[in-house]
Amino acid sequence: MRAFFSDDQLLHQPRQFMRAGRLCEPTDVPARAAALQATLATRGIDLAVAPDYGRAPLETVHSAAYLDFLCEAYERWQALARPGFEPGVEVLPNLSPYHNGKLDQNRRPDCPTDSVIAQAGYYLGDLSCPLGPHSWRSILRSAHSAVAAADYVCEQGDGGMAYALCRPSGHHAHSDRAGGFCYVNNAAIAAQGLLKRFGKVAVLDVDAHHGDGTQQIFYQRSDVMTISLHADPAGYYPFYTGYANERGYGAGYGYNLNFPLPHGTGDAGFLAALDSALDALRDYRPQALVLSLGFDTYVDDPISVLAVGMDGYRGIGERIHALGVPTVVVQEGGYEVDAIGHALDTFLSGFAPAMA
Ligand SMILES: [Zn+2]
Repeated sequence: MRAFFSDDQLLHQPRQFMRAGRLCEPTDVPARAAALQATLATRGIDLAVAPDYGRAPLETVHSAAYLDFLCEAYERWQALARPGFEPGVEVLPNLSPYHNGKLDQNRRPDCPTDSVIAQAGYYLGDLSCPLGPHSWRSILRSAHSAVAAADYVCEQGDGGMAYALCRPSGHHAHSDRAGGFCYVNNAAIAAQGLLKRFGKVAVLDVDAHHGDGTQQIFYQRSDVMTISLHADPAGYYPFYTGYANERGYGAGYGYNLNFPLPHGTGDAGFLAALDSALDALRDYRPQALVLSLGFDTYVDDPISVLAVGMDGYRGIGERIHALGVPTVVVQEGGYEVDAIGHALDTFLSGFAPAMA
């Protein structure tokens, strides 16, 4: 097993995000990555730096206009400065995007204006995705960690497994829209990478939040099945999607499954839902798997509404191990810095027992 991370992923240092009308201290702090790195080191897992693949792998799931925006927005934002007007220190929208709810349309047209203010509203879906001076570099390198992990599993074939320490996370990123601390969909990019060798791939998302971006990207496709377990979105981000009746569209119908869980669900309830999800996954017979692994399901996570504990993470690891499918684990959320290292360690004790 190999793990991938680049120190460039620490450069993104968000200063603020909006929660219920209040600008708050960021939760996606660089210290999260350090906690996860420490766990990998104590388990003797090699942490490699991904090669620089450029933009090509990101373009397999994102529109070029959206990536242009992410790459250039900070400098263009600073250029808004005029005598008597200073733009904010980060790119943050002051408009709300139009959400038409049409699941049969998996991509919008490019933003019809080149105003950076209009584009910030169009491409940054909420106020949790500020772009600072080094954000793009971290976003790009986080995606590269996922690409390298997928490449490694492609090389290894049967029994291959890798962990991508992705930060920023990715599963809320749509093909042309950032959201929920996510800019580029690392798990979707890893799934595309696995398709280079494997004919059928599944993405299983066990983060506390619905993997709405991953769902949107593959909603009309049958070569990548998407399954997400998450807190009931009726009262939790991302609110608009993640319901059980979202099954896919067109050729993708039947290849998207959501398991919204009652708030307060603990280990037993979470693992029971995971067993149901894995039954569906086995019926699909994927040749490779991407696991979107989040630890914001943790009972003491600052934004959690679930109550998963360390036994739950071990149980998740054991079940994915038992699947026996080549797997790329992609890190998603998890914001209790003092707990996520332990959570990863416990997950790995089940997922990679030979390395315990
Ligand atoms: Zn999350």
